[in-house]
Amino acid sequence: MTTPCIISVAITGSVPRKKDNPAVPVTIAEQVESTHEAYEAGATLVHLHVRDENENSSSDRSSFEKLQDGIRKHCPDIIIQFSTGGRGRSFEQRGAMLDLRPDMASLATGSVNFPTTVYENPPDFVRALAKSMLDYDVKAEIEIFDLAMLYATANLVQEGLLKSPVHVQFVFGIKNALPARREILEFEVKQLKALLPDATWTAAGIGRTQLEVNHWTLEMGGHCRTGLEDNVRWDKDTLATSNAQLVERVAKLCGEYGRPVATPKQARDMLKLKPL
Ligand code: ZN
Repeated sequence: MTTPCIISVAITGSVPRKKDNPAVPVTIAEQVESTHEAYEAGATLVHLHVRDENENSSSDRSSFEKLQDGIRKHCPDIIIQFSTGGRGRSFEQRGAMLDLRPDMASLATGSVNFPTTVYENPPDFVRALAKSMLDYDVKAEIEIFDLAMLYATANLVQEGLLKSPVHVQFVFGIKNALPARREILEFEVKQLKALLPDATWTAAGIGRTQLEVNHWTLEMGGHCRTGLEDNVRWDKDTLATSNAQLVERVAKLCGEYGRPVATPKQARDMLKLKPL
């Protein structure tokens, strides 16, 4: 049987702003609305950041709480994933909302250069964040920005800091990190299968690589990520009009590869999430 495809939507992020694309949802009301539209279009997992009134990345716990409550009301079974990413947040702040017990949270297992900064994830911090996710029963989505992070993930599983099966996201197209080259993804997936045979995986292409990476993962049996966090454009000449528009594009693509779009129940079963 063909594996249904879990479509993740990263609706906001911490970089794109309204001036990049007015469709980027920034306020909590806009984020709830945008998630709801994306959910109706086939997204079963939403990746979330929150912003302050100046559109800067924030770690305000009460904003995460309001956002989670709003989304739960409109999309009761969507998988909610909080970002623990950097960009203006201290180490302490990055995990300070995990006690809200979202279904999932992102976890990068190493450090990497970004276009103009270092995305810092020192070993002790990674371990503390993984432990905190275990304590609150939050499943990690492992963000692989560089190959070493994959082996670091296998070590964390061995140490008991990550529960199997793990869910991994390979990230491509960020300047100074891994370029979007299919051979790299193929190698990474092969290594993942050797190290952690029961793992599930997806991949994200940043910027103009988004759609191409969607094609690769569908063909290779992985899941898909899309959304305005990663890419604000529809094509060279036009901006995307909404997160839902980008989700619809992936849902259509699933059909072309003979992959059904996963329902929330199927997605939860595949990721072995705790019951709602
Ligand atoms: Zn993010």
